[in-house]
Formats: sequence, C-alpha cells, structure tokens
Amino acid sequence: MPGTVYTLEVNPRIPPRLQRLSELANDLWYSWDRPTRALFARLQPTLWLAVGHNPKAFLKRIDQKRLDAAAEDPTFIGSFNRVLSAYDTYLDIAADTATRHGFHSDDIIAYFCAEFGLHESLPIYSGGLGILAGDHCKAASDMGLPFVGVGLLYRQGYFIQTLDADGRQHANYHDTDFGDLPATPVQDEQGREIRVAVDLPGRQVQARVWEVRVGRVHLLLLDTSLPENSEHDRDIAHRLYGGDIQTRLEQEILLGVGGVRALAAVGIAPTVWHINEGHAAFLILERIRQLCLQGLSFPVALEAVAANVVFTTHTPVPAGHDHFSEEAITRHFAQWCADVGATPAQLLALGETVGEREFNMTTLAIRGSRLHNGVSRIHGDVSSHICANLWPQIEPAENPLSYVTNGVHTRTFLATEWFETFDRYLGVGWEERQTDAASWAKVEQIPDTTFWGIRQMLKSQLLHMVRHRVSTQHARNEDSPSRLDRLLRLADPNKPNVLTIGFARRFATYKRGALLFHDLERLAKIIANSERPVLFLFAGKAHPADQPGQELIRRIAQIARLPQFEGHILLLEDYDLHLSRRLVAGVDVWLNNPIYPLEASGTSGMKAAMNGVLNVSILDGWWGEGFDNQNGIPNGWSIKPAPGHLDETRRDDEEANSLYEILENQVIPTYYRVGPAGLSTDWVSMAKRAISSITPHFNVNRMVGEYVHNFYLPAAAQGRRYSAEHFATAHAIADWKARVRAAWPGVALRRVDTPPLRLGFGDSLRLEVMVRLNGLPAEDIVVEAVFARPSSSGKSKKGRHAILLPVGDAEHGEQRYALDLTPEHCGKLEYRLRAYPAHAQLTHRFEMGMMLWL
Ligand SMILES: *Cc1c(COP(=O)(O)O)cnc(C)c1O
Repeated sequence: MPGTVYTLEVNPRIPPRLQRLSELANDLWYSWDRPTRALFARLQPTLWLAVGHNPKAFLKRIDQKRLDAAAEDPTFIGSFNRVLSAYDTYLDIAADTATRHGFHSDDIIAYFCAEFGLHESLPIYSGGLGILAGDHCKAASDMGLPFVGVGLLYRQGYFIQTLDADGRQHANYHDTDFGDLPATPVQDEQGREIRVAVDLPGRQVQARVWEVRVGRVHLLLLDTSLPENSEHDRDIAHRLYGGDIQTRLEQEILLGVGGVRALAAVGIAPTVWHINEGHAAFLILERIRQLCLQGLSFPVALEAVAANVVFTTHTPVPAGHDHFSEEAITRHFAQWCADVGATPAQLLALGETVGEREFNMTTLAIRGSRLHNGVSRIHGDVSSHICANLWPQIEPAENPLSYVTNGVHTRTFLATEWFETFDRYLGVGWEERQTDAASWAKVEQIPDTTFWGIRQMLKSQLLHMVRHRVSTQHARNEDSPSRLDRLLRLADPNKPNVLTIGFARRFATYKRGALLFHDLERLAKIIANSERPVLFLFAGKAHPADQPGQELIRRIAQIARLPQFEGHILLLEDYDLHLSRRLVAGVDVWLNNPIYPLEASGTSGMKAAMNGVLNVSILDGWWGEGFDNQNGIPNGWSIKPAPGHLDETRRDDEEANSLYEILENQVIPTYYRVGPAGLSTDWVSMAKRAISSITPHFNVNRMVGEYVHNFYLPAAAQGRRYSAEHFATAHAIADWKARVRAAWPGVALRRVDTPPLRLGFGDSLRLEVMVRLNGLPAEDIVVEAVFARPSSSGKSKKGRHAILLPVGDAEHGEQRYALDLTPEHCGKLEYRLRAYPAHAQLTHRFEMGMMLWL
C-alpha cells in the first residue's frame, strides 16, 4: 500500500484510585509476588499474555473501560489493597536490617554481573548465571542487605526461539522499547539524566544509567544507545553476549569500568565488590586507577582494592573462561597504564596464565580479589584445580578457592498452590524460616491426598499450557490436525495421571540432551506399556553459534516423530523464566544428565524439588550434595558418573544404562504403585522428602547468608583495615609481598634432628628444622608439621597441623625451628614438614602461593 505509516500508541489514564498500580509495575517485587501479578492479569487476561507478563507495558495498553470499571469494583479494590498492604509492609521492615546482619551503617555491597534474570518482562538474561544473579538480588532484598546490583541494559535480550517442522531452531531477536521495561533513567538533582563516560581507544563513550527497583534493593544498568555516541558505540550493549570478540571486550569495559563510575555518579561508595563471573573483572582495573590518581602506587592500590573484592567463578572448563588478546588489552588500557604508572607488562601480568597466550579475565578476577569461590562442592574442587597455577606451590585442595553452593529463590519458583498449604502445615511465616530444616520437616504432616491433589493440579495446569503451545507450534508449521491429536493424546489436563518427565535447559552438548535416546529400542520398550504411559517434555535453546547444540534439538524432534514415540515426546519452544516456573512445578520427574564434572551447579533441579518433583540426575553439581537416602526413603534418584578413564562412548553407554534401569525398575513402578487411596504412597513419601530435605539448604537465603558471613562481612572489615590511616596496611602488605617474592627462591629447609622410627606411647617426638632465611625475619616464615593417619583406602586422611617455633637467633643466616610433641594415639603415623611465608594481615594463609616441603 502506498503512503507512510504513522504509528501511535494511545495510553489509558489510570484512575486516581488505582494510581499505585504504576508503582507496582515499576518494582520487580512482582517477579516473586504472585498476588501482584494476578492483580494485573485479571484486569485484562488476554492483554497480560500478549505483553508477555510485563506490567509496565500492560498499563500502557490496557483498555480504559476496564481500568475505570476496576476502580469501581469492590472485589478488585479489596485485592488491590491487600497487595499494597503486603508491599508496604515488605518495604517497611527494611530500616535497621543492615546493622542487624553485622554490617556498619555505611557498608554497601556492589554486585556486578553481565546478566540478571529476574522476570521474563526484563529480558536481560540468557540462562543459569543470570537467574542466579536475579535470585541473589531478590534474597538481598528479602534479607534487607545494603546491596546494589550493577549490569547492562541490553536492547535485545536473548533470542526468542521457534522450531520448524524439522526441529530446526530459528533465533528471533527483537528490540525492546526501553519505555516498556521496569527501569527508569537515573536523574541528578536538576532532573537531568545522569551520564558516565567510558574511555575506549581514541574516544569517550557516554553511557546512561538506569535504575531497576527490586523490592528493597536497586539494580543499576548501563546502556550506550545515545545520540552523542557514534553509531558503532550506540550498539555496544545492543545484544546480550552479542557481536564479536571486540564487542565482548567493549561490553565488559562498559560493565566493569562504567559500572564503577556509575556507582560514583549516583553517590554510592561500595565497601564490598562482588564480581559474579569474570565478565565484570575490569572493575578491578578502574578502582586501581582511581586510587593511583589519589597518589597510591600500583602495588599498594592493588592490595587496597583486592582486600574487599569477592569473585565467584561459574565455569567448569578452562576454555569457558573469557579471554582477550594481549594486544587488545594494551590498546584499550594504554591510558590506564599512564594513569596508574604501570608498564604494559605489569598490566598483562594481572591476566597472565601459565600455558596461555591471552589475557584471562578469571585470572584478573582472582589476582584482584581476596575471596574466591566456585558454586558447588564438586565445582569448588574443579575450580581449585583449574586455577591452581595462581598458587603454584600450593596443592589444589588447600588453595584459597572455596565454594558456596548455589540456591534458588523460593517465592519465585514455588507454585502458588503450595503457599496456602505451607501456611497451614508449616505455619504462617514459613518464608522467614526457609533455612530451618525443622520447619520443612512439617511437610510430612500434609495428608497424602492433599499433597497428591496439589501435584496433580500443578501437572494439569502445565498440560493445559503444553497443549496450547504445541497446538500453536503445530499450526505455524502447517502440520496435519490428526497428527496433533496423536501428539497430544497423553497431555490431557483432565487426566493428569500420566508419569511426566521434564528435561529443560540450554542445549549445550555437555548437558547431553539426547542421552535418553542412546538406545531407542530399549526406550521404546520402557514407554510401550499402555498401563504405565510416560510423557517426556523437552525444552531449551541452543546458542545460535552452537551447531552441535542445534543438531541435538533436531535429533530430538526427529525421534519424537517416529511412530513408537509419537505423543510420548513433546518439544516445547522458547524456554524462558515463565516456561521454567511452570515446568519445574508441573512435571513429576526432573531429568538432568550432564557429563561429570561439567555441571558447575545447576539450579533447575532445586526449583523442581521444592515443588515436590523428584530429580533423576547424574551425581554432579548441586546434586552431589543434594541427593540423600536417609531412613531408606531417597529424595530422588542418582546416576553415578562412569569412571573418568572410560572413553566417551563407553561412558554414555554406562550412564544411559543406569538411567534406563532407574526408569524401568524404580521411577515407573514407584509412580504407578497406586494404592486404594488412588495414589502411590511410596511416591508421595519420596516427594515429601524432596521438599523437606532439599529446600532448607538449596534456597538462595542460605546461599546469600553464606556470602554474608564468609565473604561480605570479612571483606568489608578487611577493606576498612587496609585503607585506614592512609592505606597503611595496604602499604605494609605490598612492601612485605615484594620482599618475600624477592627472597623466596633463596629460602631452604633442612632437618637437623634424627627422625626416630619408633616411639613408646607417652614419649615425645622432637622436630627440628633449620631454615635459610635469605634475609627474611624469622617471623615471616611458618614451619609446620602436617600429620596424617594412613587410611585403609591407601589415601591419607587430611590431618592436623602443628607449628614449629623459632628457637634462639639466626646463625649464619639459618634459623632453627623446633617442636616437641607427644602423639595421642598408638599406631602408624605419617607426617611431613613444610614452610611458607606468613603475615597476620593476609586474607588466606596461602595467599602468596608459596610453599617449601622437606
Ligand atoms: C533455573 C533456570 C536455568 C538454570 O538451570 P540449570 O539447571 O542450570 O539448567 C536456566 N534457564 C532458566 C529459564 C531457568 O529458570
């Protein structure tokens, strides 16, 4: 058609009585408060779906008549007032909580992450990392922590996925209208939008600062789509993880450097800095630069900065760590070197990793932080090994990389139906007792029929949605109507008694989305019994650059079309937070079969467990800690990883066989062991145990509590200590480290007593070691005996340490250290002697990474 199309959006006028709807629409509190979402939804249900559950976009488009009617509707006003009262109460409790946790009144934690997954209406996340960050913010709000999140506001979040009839993935990106997002530009006192400038080679880029309310805390997000920037620079934060390596570098500079400047621009002076995954590690460089401009030297500034930085790594393989060419780093940080008074070599050393040519962001993050962790016990161990080269003389088991196991935000992922039941059986206020196992144990008191009824209802709701989605997919792909009937034959909301197994996550090859299809004949037999039907629901996106991942989706789509599997396997499009909430609540079993040990943590299984869903999972990530079998009632099923020396095919064989066996002999019979009450009491017992044993530990309040006690409080205190009296401690530590580093190669140990082979019980053992100090004072070196009892497995158990003390003065540059001790037990005893540099102000005793063994 000829002519220009002009577009116009007509916005309703919100009646005065409903004015505070806008306030609710601008606070991500709605992402976990279901009554708030329900309030919007019931105003105009179809529009609510059409705007993707986005309250702000919803309020801009809702029909005026509906708003006016709601303002006069006593039932609606009643619900509205209840929501507002809950909201106001929530915000009100904030006042004194920071100091209650042990923080100083001026403490504030800045939490940096490249993605935040709070709700589908703010699409700035791609998967697990973002959702964890979102949950972290929600817990910070719930706990009333002094906390601010820092991230990027992408014009395009992750893509919307459609699948064609052959299972080919189509990635659709579309620009969001920032006006529709629950984010507001931060303004200065004159009402002008705040800008921060970030330096890139040959130019400055301007960034706008947005604020997102998440209950009691805020998130600051940066974007560069401003007229004053060049066209290239406007697109820096265009797409989450978009563009090439150059864009990635620019995004990370915007996040790290721009984030530090944005905090200053809005008047926030953090006392703890948390880097969640390496993307944000450039914040270390910017903070060093600012201290150097105040007159500190580079080594002193590094100590002062690192003292209060916390770094969490999420990556289980070295190749997954972000890195950039050294040339790109020196080019982008040339001015930094000038400001700091550092050479390019000193800059590059911060990201240098043995055996790698590139600048590694994880290395920078560890060198520039003093508290570091992985995200599960297994992943902590894996990370200690990956990063072992940073503490070259320390054994991985003892290096400073520890772990905090992830958790999930209960109120976000628990289905509405459970809230009332928990109110009744756990007692009102159970949300405040989330980490209390005794409170969760009361789940046992929920009558089986009630419990089962809720499970069935949640499944029914899910199947309703599944039918709708599959029908839409089917219609788009112009498939035959009779095929649709066959496809949906088991997904019947009126008959939610079909065992339903969910598998939804990113289709990355290590997650082995197709392990279930390892032996098609066996799988066909497993599901062929018409008395015990099984329905599998699959969902997940593959990164558009990941061909093997997309191939997995195609393979599953093709298998789903085979006559023996038709109707048993449904593949759902566009896995996001919304679909995730429904799936983890509605299925009976949550399946996870990654390659050990590549699942850093995984969190979807925790969401499933708290909804009474049973996990079937490889013992990897969080499940390594979550699975248990107390009193003979397991809280799920575990697949033991095949021994590490097997090749890929044998490993998949082994683990697929375990999976089939668990399905054949345990999952299916237990589910269908239906008794006179019309339910399987064995299943219900296990499901109750899943809730009561997993939820108290794998919730995000427990996780953030650990961060507070083991990381944030010590970091805040240490930051204060290092910077007090014009950074006296930072100076002392920097000087001391330089001295120790220079002297250490010349330090040597020798034992001077004659080691006895036998000792009578009650006799004492004398240990005497001479240490060549090479100019270091004796108190800078700890000499230690490490004891172990040989165990039956051949491996020594980790034992006690005993410290040898300096005796007399040094003679000819050698210092004597000695200890007399009386063994407490009879039997064989092994011990070793070692020495390492020590200083009372170090964060971790092995921070220097130096150790000499005799
Ligand atoms: C919870 C969640 C994840 C992360 O879970 P994994 O177990 O790591 O896959 C990813 N995507 C969505 C949408 C989620 O809700």
